[in-house]
Order: sequence, then structure tokens, then C-alpha cells
Amino acid sequence: MDCIFCKIAAGEIPAKKLYEDEHAVAFADINPKAPVHLLIIPRQHIASLAEVGASEEEKTLVGHLHGIANELARRQNLGNGYRIVINTGPDGGQTVDHLHLHLLGGRAMHWPPG
Ligand code: 5GP
Ligand code: ZN
Repeated sequence: MDCIFCKIAAGEIPAKKLYEDEHAVAFADINPKAPVHLLIIPRQHIASLAEVGASEEEKTLVGHLHGIANELARRQNLGNGYRIVINTGPDGGQTVDHLHLHLLGGRAMHWPPG
């Protein structure tokens, strides 16, 4: 599978990893859009949030990714708030077809997003 995030998860492409466990990996975005910009991904290749099925396992996995984001936000001292984004599909602005949560913080975010 020619997927850049699968390769990062497997350690085949370097990334600044901040968290790893059996099911998920978190690393710094290569082109940060905020002072803190991390990506949280499942090790399993799931192309997008739209591909997440109704199984308890996959729903638990998506919850787990959010829990990691919350824990990393704490570690990054984002007590003033942060934003989680999951760009999904072409209209959602997704450019890497491996499910990922963006954790953005360290500045006030704009609303509505572009
Ligand atoms: P998307 O646009 O799909 O929601 O987000 C993809 C994100 O992955 C972008 O913010 C982009 O900067 C980041 N990205 C793309 N390629 C790499 C890479 O090779 N390494 C890292 N660390 N981030 C990447
Ligand atoms: Zn992948």
C-alpha cells in the first residue's frame, strides 16, 4: 500500500512522533498551520472518516483517537482551547487518504473555517 501515513506509522518515513500505542500514532504536521499542529492516525489503513463502519471496534478506534488528541492537548498546555479537524473527502479538503485527526492550538482559531 503506497500510503505515506502507513509508512510513517511503520517507521519507514521519519516523523516527529509524540505518541504511539498498539492502535494509533501521533506526530507533528510537516506544514504546521498553528503553533501546535499534530496529526493523530490509526495504524490500520482506513481511507477516511467516511470509511469508518458501524462495528464496535471501529467506533471504539475513532473514540480512542479523540482521547489521544485530548491527552496531547493537555501535554501541549492547550488549556485555553484547541480544535480537532477531520477533513473528509474532496469537499472536506482531505489531501492524504488515511484517516487523521488534526489537533490545532496555540492561537485563536477562526470560524467559520474556509
Ligand atoms: P489533510 O489535508 O488530508 O486533512 O491533511 C494532511 C496533512 O498531512 C497536511 O496538514 C499536511 O501538511 C500533512 N502531511 C502531508 N505529508 C506529510 C508528511 O510526509 N509528514 C508529515 N508529518 N505530515 C504530512
Ligand atoms: Zn494508510
